[in-house]
Amino acid sequence: MAESKARTAGPRAAKPKKPESHLGMVRRARRINRALAEQYPYAHPELDFDNPFQLLVATVLSAQTTDLRVNQTTPALFAKYPTPEDMAAAVPEELEEIIRPTGFFRNKAKSLLGLSAALRDDFGGEVPGRLADLVTLPGVGRKTANVVLGNAFGVPGITVDTHFGRLVRRFGWTQEEDPEKVEAAVAAIFPKSEWTMLSHRVVFHGRRVCHSQKPACGACPITALCPSFGAGETDPEKAAKLLKYELAGKPGQRLRPPADFPGEAAARAEADAHDGEVADMAVAG
Ligand code: SF4
Repeated sequence: MAESKARTAGPRAAKPKKPESHLGMVRRARRINRALAEQYPYAHPELDFDNPFQLLVATVLSAQTTDLRVNQTTPALFAKYPTPEDMAAAVPEELEEIIRPTGFFRNKAKSLLGLSAALRDDFGGEVPGRLADLVTLPGVGRKTANVVLGNAFGVPGITVDTHFGRLVRRFGWTQEEDPEKVEAAVAAIFPKSEWTMLSHRVVFHGRRVCHSQKPACGACPITALCPSFGAGETDPEKAAKLLKYELAGKPGQRLRPPADFPGEAAARAEADAHDGEVADMAVAG
């Protein structure tokens, strides 16, 4: 009887939601940023580097691979070629052999040789601290330039990589696909002082929780603020199994993580364990 009543009544129609105002979206976006800051107070660049040149090289190498794979490759690279002058004078085949594990090694070697020669010839062997100069270097686009500016020079920058673009669209901050338009839309929501750390927090969340194929919605700290809740697994127990890195009790990507990082350092030769993320990036990217 109860069943037939339920059938007659049908499911209760959800109350139509009012479309979100721009101001409402901005407030919600800032709440998401605060929640992510609480979740990842230790968010940081996941590439190991000691100076702007190393960060520039590591960022070029990080295209289409994991930061872990780059971190496992760069110690030998920087030991052999510590300065732009050294790298510019490298024998191409020897350079290619060292960076081979990062993939697309011929193109990447060409970029590293070209940018090292440009640093040597046009910038006195120093990495310039201006976007306009950085993007003139071979293999260096706006994304790489912003990573270097934000993390080696303290200049606020928004880094739109595959994780950042996917997440901000899921958050409903913008629907733009073009990275420059995404950057401009997000820049209009947050004060400059937040840009660099916001980028780290969003990318951390994308790598650990909000994956491209299987977002762990049921284990996500911002479900109440995210219009895309339900895009992935909503069962808390099943979702918890999708978490990665320190949230899954595993090592992070850095061989030398900062002192406040709650997980362990990555091992020097376990790159294969993270190939899932590369596949993730390839599909999303
Ligand atoms: S609720 Fe789901 S879609 Fe939204 S941020 Fe969390 S994991 Fe991503």
